[in-house]
Amino acid sequence: MYSPRHLRERPGGGPSDPGRRALFLGIAASVGLGLVACDEGDAPEAPPRATAGAVPAPTRVPAVVRAAPRPATPPALSRREILAEFRGKIPTQWGLDVTGVATGSRSRSVALTFDACGGPGGSGFDRKLIRSLRRHHVPATLFINLRWARRNPGLLRELATDPLFEIANHGVHHSPLSVNGRSAYGIPGTSSLREAYDEVMGNQEGLSALTGRAPLSFRPGTAHYDEIAAAMVRRCGLLPANFSVNADGGATFTPEMVAGQLDGVKAGDVVISHFNQPSSGTGEGYVAGLPGMIGRGLRFDHLSAVFGLGKAALTGVAAGR
Ligand SMILES: [Zn+2]
Repeated sequence: MYSPRHLRERPGGGPSDPGRRALFLGIAASVGLGLVACDEGDAPEAPPRATAGAVPAPTRVPAVVRAAPRPATPPALSRREILAEFRGKIPTQWGLDVTGVATGSRSRSVALTFDACGGPGGSGFDRKLIRSLRRHHVPATLFINLRWARRNPGLLRELATDPLFEIANHGVHHSPLSVNGRSAYGIPGTSSLREAYDEVMGNQEGLSALTGRAPLSFRPGTAHYDEIAAAMVRRCGLLPANFSVNADGGATFTPEMVAGQLDGVKAGDVVISHFNQPSSGTGEGYVAGLPGMIGRGLRFDHLSAVFGLGKAALTGVAAGR
């Protein structure tokens, strides 16, 4: 069977290879696929820049898994206990939709999710996009990397205190989440169980301290996991999440392509896009596409709601600010 996983694309979508990009986008559009990228990136063949955390890339949209994921386990275990539980386990899967990762839901509502990947070239803010969500009163879940949070503390506070938005965890360094150093699109993943734990929980602590609430779900940089790392995320009390519709191809799609992807969204879908790339087509694509989704009668809710995770607990750290 033809596997779009083999398709490769420059995550930043730059003009360095327009022919190849057009070819890929043509194929992607024809089979309803997109890219998963986040911020600036190197060509997949090139080694990643040391400072460029991130960079996701091309891939296919995973098959929608309609099984209702169990709510995340309460984070009652210590780092030592979790590392002991998973030590020595060898993963056999790697990708976007490995065992345990939630993609589509059984909810009647759509969950719109937007990543902010941070790092050089990845710490912007798409005001047009956020304004459009607010204008239409459409809730969204924002996956925030710790580098973006530290670069934009005022914006983070503003978003975290707006009930329209739910803050979720997008890692410390924006690394693919591996227990043994797998990479995605040339981006090295975490090299051990210990590093994977710290990639997740370092940002969990950071966002909890900055916003006063502990996020309920996690998505790694490049959206890649192995199944051991995904299981560990659950033991940390977080839902390992991905998506069923890739609406902006890692912020490389034109507004027309984004609006076209939104046209195909159905109840239960989890949609991935980015809100850290204001010069991309994502914001305009949503401005064009949101009215149609609303007009079709779609309902929207936070990711935690469509997966029945309950409400984020106040951490007490920043409560009352
Ligand atoms: Zn990202």
